[in-house]
Amino acid sequence: LDGDLRCDVVVVGGGFTGLSAAVHLARAGSNVVLVEAHRFGDGASGRNGGQLGTGQRAWAEELEAEYGFSRAKALFDLAEEAKAHLLEFAAVNKIEIDYMPGQMSVAHKQRYVDDYKAHAEIMANRFGYPHFSFMDAKETAERLGSARYFGGTRDTGTGHIHPLKLVIGTAKVAAQAGAQLFEQTPATAITSVGGKVRVTTPKGTISAGKCLIGVNAHGGTLEPISAAHIMPIGSFIGATVPLADSSVLPGGEAVDDSRFVVRYFRKSTDGRLLFGGREIYAVSDPKDIHVHIRRQIAELYPDLRDVEITHG
Ligand SMILES: Cc1cc2nc3c(=O)[nH]c(=O)nc-3n(C[C@H](O)[C@H](O)[C@H](O)COP(=O)(O)OP(=O)(O)OC[C@H]3O[C@@H](n4cnc5c(N)ncnc54)[C@H](O)[C@@H]3O)c2cc1C
Repeated sequence: LDGDLRCDVVVVGGGFTGLSAAVHLARAGSNVVLVEAHRFGDGASGRNGGQLGTGQRAWAEELEAEYGFSRAKALFDLAEEAKAHLLEFAAVNKIEIDYMPGQMSVAHKQRYVDDYKAHAEIMANRFGYPHFSFMDAKETAERLGSARYFGGTRDTGTGHIHPLKLVIGTAKVAAQAGAQLFEQTPATAITSVGGKVRVTTPKGTISAGKCLIGVNAHGGTLEPISAAHIMPIGSFIGATVPLADSSVLPGGEAVDDSRFVVRYFRKSTDGRLLFGGREIYAVSDPKDIHVHIRRQIAELYPDLRDVEITHG
């Protein structure tokens, strides 16, 4: 952005949140300007696990214990709507997102196996979701190509996607809808001036009626009130070379496990193993991601202990 603009809504951040908001606002008739500090998808949206999870982060029965059935069911239904919306949005707008069906959640300790079994039954009988099936240790080993886990569930009602393709496709749709999009344009200040919001960038300003801040945990002190409530947690993914070994995830499902620092992995359409794990509680980019990821891969797949990690 080079100069001063006026609009109805200025959006700060070009990930799923900002770009999706830009599409829907522009289609509803608002004049929208979006600024992204780096490239679209540079934050979590362009390089996440790609797993289209069913339900919320906490299991529906845990939410029911805390909030009662009707709220737990409403939260579950909301997540189902989000899944359906994402797939429909991609289909209607002809965004190729490399959707691959199937998601498995697996127990890294024997004592969690009964919980997974009960979860599949509760989802079918209480929450009306028939797509979970329980897997014993043998089936889990066959479907993962690894005997490291003790059991789990398989969900045929969801799958995984190429997240950066969704980001880029959404940016194109936003531009077609009339939003003005600017990459490499960090917002350096957000101020209120005479009932308007002003966003300042290195070479310009945007004056708007409203501002949507979609910077996730990358905003620093841009908006101090929210910043005080945000703690960045980093998680890391490595991608291997395309694998010759077809025994790894032969059904093509995505996986997450029961660890507190969750491990999550899947194969891409070109046969790479994308493996995520490890957490840090700070904003930094460690240089040794491939070392940690390869070690975690080798725990599951010993034959891949020397596999080349091409991206991390
Ligand atoms: C490693 C990892 C794996 C994940 N796996 C999954 C998964 O499998 N399934 C799932 O559903 N979710 C997953 N998530 C979560 C999901 O990716 C995020 O919830 C989602 O991408 C957040 O989107 P967002 O647009 O809010 O934020 P982001 O995508 O982080 O976008 C924020 C944007 O704001 C920009 N920005 C920051 N400051 C400024 C500024 N001052 N001016 C302008 N722009 C600025 C950043 O550059 C960035 O592009 C994962 C997250 C991570 C980190």
